[in-house]
Amino acid sequence: MSIAAIAITTLLVLKNRAASTDLAEKAQLLDLTHDAIFVRGMDDLVTYWNRGAEAIYGWPAENALGISTHQLLQTVFPAGLDEINRELLRSDRWEGELEHTKRDGSTVVVSSRWSLKKDADGRPLSVLETNTDISQRREAEAEVLKAQAELTHMTRLTTLGELTASIAHEVNQPLAGIVLNGEACLRWVDRDQPDLDEVRSAVRRSIADAQRASDIVRRIRSLSKKGDIEMSLIDMNEIVNDSLVLVQRELVTNRITLKLSLANQRLPALGDRIQLQQVLINLLVNGIQAITSGDNDLREIVVTSSIDESNQANVRVEDSGTGIDPDNARQLFKAFFTTKANGIGMGLSICRSIVEAHGGRVWVVPNPGRGAILQFSLPRVEKDAES
Ligand code: ADP
Repeated sequence: MSIAAIAITTLLVLKNRAASTDLAEKAQLLDLTHDAIFVRGMDDLVTYWNRGAEAIYGWPAENALGISTHQLLQTVFPAGLDEINRELLRSDRWEGELEHTKRDGSTVVVSSRWSLKKDADGRPLSVLETNTDISQRREAEAEVLKAQAELTHMTRLTTLGELTASIAHEVNQPLAGIVLNGEACLRWVDRDQPDLDEVRSAVRRSIADAQRASDIVRRIRSLSKKGDIEMSLIDMNEIVNDSLVLVQRELVTNRITLKLSLANQRLPALGDRIQLQQVLINLLVNGIQAITSGDNDLREIVVTSSIDESNQANVRVEDSGTGIDPDNARQLFKAFFTTKANGIGMGLSICRSIVEAHGGRVWVVPNPGRGAILQFSLPRVEKDAES
């Protein structure tokens, strides 16, 4: 070997040594992070496993190397693995949330980022996966959602409590009807010549009354039960009508006239029937309270449903009550904001979280010197399966 060749070989050896020292240093750096970082071949077998991965999953590198990650970690994917791999091959990266099982059998939710490494000819070689443990964040979010659901339910019960007198009346009326019809029946039967036609029609009226009463009880039960949110295709006009049944008596006893102007077509939206009823009942009860707390001669609530300019399903509740002080308008939807002696200040805040969870918005329409106007809009489902 010539001197020049020896020099070149020595240089190459030194360069390679420097490169591997460089790589080792980089690998040590990867060991500093708390994230789990590993590399897997296109066959999914692990070729690199950092300390973070050891800490998060409980598997030391020597147990993980050469093993399929998806099997080792029993990965639960947010979409089909084929779909995820297609995205990875198309854009060289993928991001999403995964659920993994640790060595001790407990699960961990990770925010996962995948990067594809290719050879000089563009052929996929391996995947670098970086996973951040977000289990605690997810648990905290779940706790908040649970607390919100409890609060929503509690406020609904409070509102129902305020409507007890009305509800009792609504149920009592058909019950009284049943008693009257029953008595009439007995009279028709006890005659020397029983009039069966009259008996039949009295029984029919009784059945209709009983159905009315059970319908009201059913509504109250569904409003008071604590159920999971059930999104379905609903008609906003029906939600308005269902809610009005429950405040009907409250309007009558407080001598408030209701003007109802419903869109003359169905207003299909995707939503939870009970929660949307809660929104509307809250707005109506607030309107009634605003009228009864003032001394305005005009005692009127106008409820309008329509398709608004942005093609959304809109419901508007306008009252002739005390109105809203412009200084308060911005605070109205904040939790615990109330101007009432016995108010809780959660009604509108819950209305807002319900409407926003449905992809809509709720707001106050300025109406200086007059009563309040509150309205909400929900995305309208264009293709109404039932129309
Ligand atoms: P609460 O009814 O317990 O006070 P809400 O969140 O429902 O809680 O309402 C917050 C506040 O918004 C009320 O205290 C009142 O000041 C104001 N408000 C809501 N609706 C109306 C209305 N229709 N007219 C006048 N003020 C209203």
